[in-house]
Amino acid sequence: MTAVTLSQSSPGRRGDSFLSVQDLHISFQTEDGVVRAVDGLSFEVEKGTTLGIVGESGSGKSVTNLAILGLHNRDRTEIHGEIWFEDQELTGASRTALEGLRGNRIAMIFQDPLTSLSPYHTVGRQISEVYRKHKGASKKEARDRAIEMLERVGIPNARTRVDDYPHHFSGGMRQRVMIAMALVCDPDLLIADEPTTALDVTVQAQVLDLLKDLQQQTGTSIILITHDLGVIARTAHQVLVMYAGRAAERGTVREVLGEARHPYTWGLLSSVPRLGSPVDVPLTPIRGTPPSMLNPPSGCPFHPRCEYVRLAGPELCVHQRPDLSPATGHGDACYLTPKQKQETFAQIKGRP
Ligand code: SF4
Repeated sequence: MTAVTLSQSSPGRRGDSFLSVQDLHISFQTEDGVVRAVDGLSFEVEKGTTLGIVGESGSGKSVTNLAILGLHNRDRTEIHGEIWFEDQELTGASRTALEGLRGNRIAMIFQDPLTSLSPYHTVGRQISEVYRKHKGASKKEARDRAIEMLERVGIPNARTRVDDYPHHFSGGMRQRVMIAMALVCDPDLLIADEPTTALDVTVQAQVLDLLKDLQQQTGTSIILITHDLGVIARTAHQVLVMYAGRAAERGTVREVLGEARHPYTWGLLSSVPRLGSPVDVPLTPIRGTPPSMLNPPSGCPFHPRCEYVRLAGPELCVHQRPDLSPATGHGDACYLTPKQKQETFAQIKGRP
């Protein structure tokens, strides 16, 4: 499937893309200096598909999506590049224009619904208010819509529960309420930032299946931000692996998880348990820690943690920044040769 295409550099808006992020750079001032959180990131999403963005904390995945929503601190954040949502460019959009999009055509769900839902109001009121604000509906229409949405996300007795407060719901049910609120205006794009991290495994699977079902019904595109490759495998069509504010690898789920080419992706895959592996086989964590984006490494940002610098050539890895290649389809930003990537990944896959 080629519904989502990603490229490292492609100036100018692509004609048929639904969301197009092009050569995005985001930096912001902190007390310790300037953090260069995103450094030349490009990707595109088309309608009705899910793009999974995976990476460790600090890889720039959440910052990118806050910029799409215009939720960054405008006084302290510098953004270069372009974010096109259909024919509207968002990095230069006014606050009013972004407010008109947020919650309406672009919605977001967060890891912890308790931080997004007000404890002082019933869930019905909170869902209704979003609908009234963007659709100009009457109180009755908005309440009926809130009940309909609670039913759609599988809240039993929605007609009664619409008058409950968030603390009356379990964690999984609260996440369903958040999804109902996010989808109440039938958004074109849903950004889900670690939506299931706080849930136990069974509830996590239910919520992911719910998102998939709702996507099939409504055609909403989803950007799913996660550090969990299992969530990507279950939910996404396409994957973007981010490291140090840049794209390390991208492609379809089958390509990136089944034929991984970048040493960072290999590291992520080696650090999750595999079905069928003996329980006494230790997992292999990625050595070292993610870089400080106050002072990112030279060359390939992964080089201080990479086992393959010697194989690819230190003069390249340490001094020259690799770009994502090829420009479309399954691509990676690594100097190893295709043969080296293939052979090394085959060895990694062969480990118990
Ligand atoms: Fe490792 Fe070099 Fe490839 Fe970067 S370019 S991932 S340092 S081998």
